[in-house]
Amino acid sequence: MSDRPRLRRCPWCHAPVLTALVGNPCGLNVRADPVPLGLADELRARLEGRFSYCLRLHPYLPPRLIRRGPEHIAAGRCTHLVVADHQCPAGTSAVSATQPIEPDSLF
Ligand SMILES: [Zn+2]
Ligand SMILES: [Zn+2]
Repeated sequence: MSDRPRLRRCPWCHAPVLTALVGNPCGLNVRADPVPLGLADELRARLEGRFSYCLRLHPYLPPRLIRRGPEHIAAGRCTHLVVADHQCPAGTSAVSATQPIEPDSLF
């Protein structure tokens, strides 16, 4: 159980994705595209119903993936890299709603 991001391959399109369990202890299995987004890209991703996350890199601590809540965005002083949910070209547009979740991620 860790919110440390790992680089894995998407099981559907085999693109490299950042996976992490975000929001311990009841983590959400996140697959994010490992591409830093600008404000416009992030806005577009969120309009598409994808969540965005902060990739917090620290020279001494392990990297962490953090859910970007409205208050975090509103704070406006974020220096993290911003990534968004993986948009799977192999799936439908409503990826998280229609694709099966691995059984071990449900509980
Ligand atoms: Zn941040
Ligand atoms: Zn994919």
